Amino acid sequence: MEKKKRRSIPLQEKSLPIFCIICGHPYTEGLELLGNCICTSCENDIVKSEAEDIKYLHYVYRLRTILSGLTSQ
Ligand SMILES: [Zn+2]
Repeated sequence: MEKKKRRSIPLQEKSLPIFCIICGHPYTEGLELLGNCICTSCENDIVKSEAEDIKYLHYVYRLRTILSGLTSQ
């Protein structure tokens, strides 16, 4: 089984703070999607979310926004 693609950003290489596009907390490790970062915590929430979960709808909305290139954050 292949490892999931992940990226860690060493502190010394960060020129600007990076924030998770879902929770808004500082991003240190997780997934990068089209240049937008999703922290490990939110990634796990997405994985665990069921379709009927209200949080799922929130994530879908945010991801659609990203995919549409309409991010304003
Ligand atoms: Zn997050």
